[in-house]
Amino acid sequence: MYGLSLPSRVDEIEFDGDSYYIKRDDLIDRDFSGNKARKFHYYLLSDLPHIKKLISYGSNQSNAMYSLSVLAKIRGWEFDYFVDHIPSYLAENPQGNYRAALANGMHIIEGNIDSDSTDDSILFIHEGGREQSAEYGLKILADEIEEFRVSRQIETPDIFLPSGTGTTALYLQKHSSSRVFTTPCVGDESYLKEQFSMLESDRSQHPTILNMDKKYHFGKLYRESYEIWQELQTQTAIEFDLLYDPKGWMTLLSHRDIFVNPILYIHQGGLIGNESMLPRYKRKYGLS
Ligand SMILES: *Cc1c(COP(=O)(O)O)cnc(C)c1O
Repeated sequence: MYGLSLPSRVDEIEFDGDSYYIKRDDLIDRDFSGNKARKFHYYLLSDLPHIKKLISYGSNQSNAMYSLSVLAKIRGWEFDYFVDHIPSYLAENPQGNYRAALANGMHIIEGNIDSDSTDDSILFIHEGGREQSAEYGLKILADEIEEFRVSRQIETPDIFLPSGTGTTALYLQKHSSSRVFTTPCVGDESYLKEQFSMLESDRSQHPTILNMDKKYHFGKLYRESYEIWQELQTQTAIEFDLLYDPKGWMTLLSHRDIFVNPILYIHQGGLIGNESMLPRYKRKYGLS
């Protein structure tokens, strides 16, 4: 059985004069880490003897795509991944999650996925891992945080993490006695609420959404995003992800005064994605 190093460690850091706990889910495993490891934990452990192939779809640099390629490799499944388009530059110069997933044996397919297949040897996973099966691994995360709180004898922390599909934040809130705060990185607040509702109809169990005045578009480059990412690295010696964490930290800092309890920020991994994001930042801003 493939073993993950759980519970993941919690670091205590200072940033801009305030202290934070960081749940280091980026360190769960060399290959299978971050919130995708939590979301796909169920598929790592469950029996599923009839499954021969995993299929999914989404963007050509997605963190979920990479983690699914690792899962398929560990489980000995084939992995077909559908994308709208592979830019010729990427095809000729594979990098980041795309490169790493291909190295794990992913078959990349340009075109539309057939999601109504009744073939029961196929496991179909929605874009970004928006699946009820994610609840299993996120309950484990919630339990780890509770054990941490008890062993350190601290007050119930407020939990913060940036969202894509919102699956991680939603199931964490469902199983945690902490309040879970998040911010939408893909789409706006109403999109995120819809995502929550698809997984849980009881709104009282939804995480608390915080917003910024400025609109940030997913995958677009912003100088202040790079700057806060760099500043985090300088002050904490922790590398965060460049796609979700800058918006996460900017939102957290801009609402800092509403928090009275200790804050626990979840590091959700995604560092292989930085391999393709960093050159983009460097090209755009002439950074060295
Ligand atoms: C996938 C991902 C997210 C978003 O997770 P959701 O469960 O879709 O909200 C956030 N951060 C990182 C680093 C990710 O890879």
